[in-house]
Amino acid sequence: MTRIYDRVALIGLGLIAGSMSHAIRAGGLAGHVAGYARSEKTRQTAREIDLCDSVHDDIAGAVRGADLVVLAVPVGAMGEVMAQIAPHLAPGATVTDVGSVKQSVIEAVLPHLPQGVHFVPGHPLAGTEHSGPTSGFATLFANRWWLLTPLPDSDPDATARLDRLITAMGAKTDVMDAAHHDLVLAVTSHAPHLIAYTMVGVADHLRRVSGEEVIQYSAAGFRDFTRIAASDPTMWRDVFLHNKDATLDILGRFTEELFVLQRAIRMGDGQQLHDYFTRTRAIRRSIIDAGQDTGAPDFGRTPGAKPSQ
Ligand code: NAP
Repeated sequence: MTRIYDRVALIGLGLIAGSMSHAIRAGGLAGHVAGYARSEKTRQTAREIDLCDSVHDDIAGAVRGADLVVLAVPVGAMGEVMAQIAPHLAPGATVTDVGSVKQSVIEAVLPHLPQGVHFVPGHPLAGTEHSGPTSGFATLFANRWWLLTPLPDSDPDATARLDRLITAMGAKTDVMDAAHHDLVLAVTSHAPHLIAYTMVGVADHLRRVSGEEVIQYSAAGFRDFTRIAASDPTMWRDVFLHNKDATLDILGRFTEELFVLQRAIRMGDGQQLHDYFTRTRAIRRSIIDAGQDTGAPDFGRTPGAKPSQ
């Protein structure tokens, strides 16, 4: 049991905040975990399942006296929430966020940051397609990356302390520049999600033509797309609206590649297809070698859990 913070305030009580609360409480990493969610329904559920040590009806009550405040709301709501908590933050407190996009969150939060309060943006690369206060679990972050994008003037001690908490929750940390983060995530997470949404949309149109076959025979590939495409609509709407440039860049490149493969199929160029698929197979192997997935036939996923977001 290593207490790293006296009082952690979780703003938003969904998958990520819930998992943090479970992990922090299981590890005795904070003296007290306070929670706030905007809806009475979520607060009520959080109380019923004892998600936090205290659940507050007012956001000020949750953050008052906290030495760490975690913004765990959709990316588009970060600025508004920061504006609400700003007058109530304790001097010397650290604010972090868990948003899937970093540049726009920094732009939204910074104008409201009071003097003497530290801001260390972050993003856990861990998630599932489930959301809400009952979806979290203590091991969500185990062996997953948690990227920190401190600002040039972020206090190194505040960053180091947050790093200790994240590591104690089982995650591995890395530090990168916010713009670089957004480009990397556009490739590894944001564009793939949009492709999954699109593929499921295409199948949905087809289903109207061919009855239930698409559902009935949805083994392997399509089934994985449907799992990704079941992710929270609000969260993903905000991700695309707030990581617009990087996502459009990657989707442009994706479209070009798709045309190349489309042409190879049309021209019967088996060699090109084989070479391409050999390269992509090597990438899959390197992900397994890096410990970010397993080679199990179900891609190493426990039901409902996926390796990263
Ligand atoms: P979630 O399970 O849907 O929970 C979101 C929470 O935010 C809920 O408590 C919700 O309150 C609150 N909220 C929603 N809109 C709000 C608004 N406009 N103002 C104030 N509060 C609002 O979401 P999550 O998956 O934990 O995601 C939270 C953050 O983590 C997002 O920024 C997301 O990008 C990031 N993230 C998610 C994943 C993932 O896989 N899910 C992975 C890494 C990072 P109510 O319940 O009261 O509506």
